Amino acid sequence: MEFKDLTMKELTTIVAGFGKPAYSAKNIFKWIYKRRVEDFNQMTDIANELRSYFSQNYKISGLKIIETEKAKDGCIKFLFELKDGQTIESVLIPKEDRITVCVSTQVGCKMGCTFCCTAKQGFTRDLSTSEIVNQVMDINYYAKEQLGFKTDDSGFRTITNIVFMGMGEPLDNIEAVIKAVDILTDHNALAFGTRKITVSTCGLIPQMFEFKKRSGVKLAISLNAANDELRDKIMPINKTYKINELISSIKKLPLKSLEFITIEYILFRGLNDSKKDAETLAKLLKDLPVKVNLIPFNPHPGAPDFDAPDVKTLSDFYDYLASKGVICNVRHSRGTDISAACGQLKSRAKR
Ligand code: SF4
Repeated sequence: MEFKDLTMKELTTIVAGFGKPAYSAKNIFKWIYKRRVEDFNQMTDIANELRSYFSQNYKISGLKIIETEKAKDGCIKFLFELKDGQTIESVLIPKEDRITVCVSTQVGCKMGCTFCCTAKQGFTRDLSTSEIVNQVMDINYYAKEQLGFKTDDSGFRTITNIVFMGMGEPLDNIEAVIKAVDILTDHNALAFGTRKITVSTCGLIPQMFEFKKRSGVKLAISLNAANDELRDKIMPINKTYKINELISSIKKLPLKSLEFITIEYILFRGLNDSKKDAETLAKLLKDLPVKVNLIPFNPHPGAPDFDAPDVKTLSDFYDYLASKGVICNVRHSRGTDISAACGQLKSRAKR
């Protein structure tokens, strides 16, 4: 079994079975996540019977980096190989005061968004909790050892933020994602604050409620169209959950005070970037606890029918939303000189 599939709660239960106190579980977590020790026998403050039980029953594995690509703006894309030979991508995104890692949650994806490179690969399998956690652990270590990034006070953590926006639909693998978030936010592990992690969904409404009930991290919804006709075409999930249902579900989600849902809106030239689209979007989002990230599409060979909006259209779209009181930001794609779109490096490596 993989040790990094275990949450603190599960580990504490195992440790209690040996009559040992909860702090033994905390100490094991610290050895593994804060000191990156991968041999239970080196955990000198852990009781012998626990060391021997975990050595015999659990492995502490990492992932294998098989390719990296570095962009001019400092973004680094990682292609990882999993134990069964499958590959996934993650991205390190450095920016002045923050270092973000974008992680994958599935090998491929079932959702079929027509502008997405990963969708073209179909769906192979869900990632396990440890495979998700290890993307963060391994990139964090790479940033410290290979790139010399400075760490926080723990002396280990270089990464400041995590976004679940890589390959796969996170809420289609909700149990593994909730457990991974639980581990990543545990004080004895990497201790990320809940406001430093964002999980993005294409809009699986029942899972959105389940997720917000069980996890305190931030949620983003990838909307990308202001009307059902277009969204049906580019995001097939819209045939199951229509835009109005998605919007009214935002009103009912159990949010903390001052918590916002992020709405991601990728702008595609001539498809969803008109004044009318901006007006419809502003009406849809009126008075909701949301902020909008406008993302100009980053063209890639896997989606020849889509193009980036021109600069004036983007700025008009932004100005209109802002004039209607919608909180919005423009988020330019990073790493555009490498295989930056999710799934692109994997597709290229396969070829
Ligand atoms: S955009 Fe996200 S949800 Fe849609 S197919 Fe790609 S990975 Fe899946």
